[in-house]
Amino acid sequence: MGENSERQWCISDFEIGKPLGKGKFGRVYVARERESKFVVALKVISKEQLEKYKIHHQLRREMEIQFSLKHPNVLRLYGWFHDSENVFLILEYAHNGELYKELSRKGHFSEQQAATYILSLTKALAYCHDKHVIHRDIKPENLLLDHEGRLKIADFGWSVQSRSKRHTMCGTLDYLAPEMVENKAHDYAVDNWTLGILCYEFLYGAPPFEADSQVDTFKRIMKVDLSFPSTPYVSSEAKHLISRLLVKDSSRRLSLQRIMEHPWIIKNANPIGVCS
Ligand code: AMP
Repeated sequence: MGENSERQWCISDFEIGKPLGKGKFGRVYVARERESKFVVALKVISKEQLEKYKIHHQLRREMEIQFSLKHPNVLRLYGWFHDSENVFLILEYAHNGELYKELSRKGHFSEQQAATYILSLTKALAYCHDKHVIHRDIKPENLLLDHEGRLKIADFGWSVQSRSKRHTMCGTLDYLAPEMVENKAHDYAVDNWTLGILCYEFLYGAPPFEADSQVDTFKRIMKVDLSFPSTPYVSSEAKHLISRLLVKDSSRRLSLQRIMEHPWIIKNANPIGVCS
């Protein structure tokens, strides 16, 4: 599949299997390429929906960015095609589905599992940032797991390819950095903030600034109103890492390189990216 990415595909090249899920703009099915028997996820987006929500440009940007990214922790987009009614995205199949479901099922992750996911995410983000891509919408729903439990960043709908500070408002409030909540210019460090939020959520089961209303979440983010519950037990090294990422001044947040070298990561993460 990978080597043949320049090839023109059409729907009859695939046997369509069970539905995997339904997103805002389309349905996703497991599918198998007839010739190679290669299993993929096929995302079907109706042109009518694209028309209605005027998201052609966003989709094209998402496809071009995702197509150019080749990293073990970034969901591959192998190619795309369309017919008169739909656009089809040929995606890497993430057999174990959404990380969010695994988190809901378990309540929270062990330090080993959380550190392994944070290291995988950090490596993927370092790769994206090198290519001048800021994801901006990293949250558990956009993280998938492959057949070995390896984390894959999916959904590049809000990402941008940029060399300068950005100004647009986007994303879900709980995961937004203060500079985005305030609609100020922001850069790569927004993804570093999100790593702090996710690290907290993986260990405690809920994001740190959760509140009954959006206004209260907003206030808590702006104050960086961070506290660590006493249960479940979480080591002081993990809390140190979280505190060094959830820093209001974006220039003072721990860099991706420093996250990879942090004692909590070194002690707990599996560098292969697979949780035992
Ligand atoms: P989306 O439209 O991208 O939000 O996808 C809808 C749902 O389909 C997701 O929540 C996942 O559960 C599932 N899904 C999407 N892409 C894949 C994939 N590549 N592999 C496995 N499941 C997927």
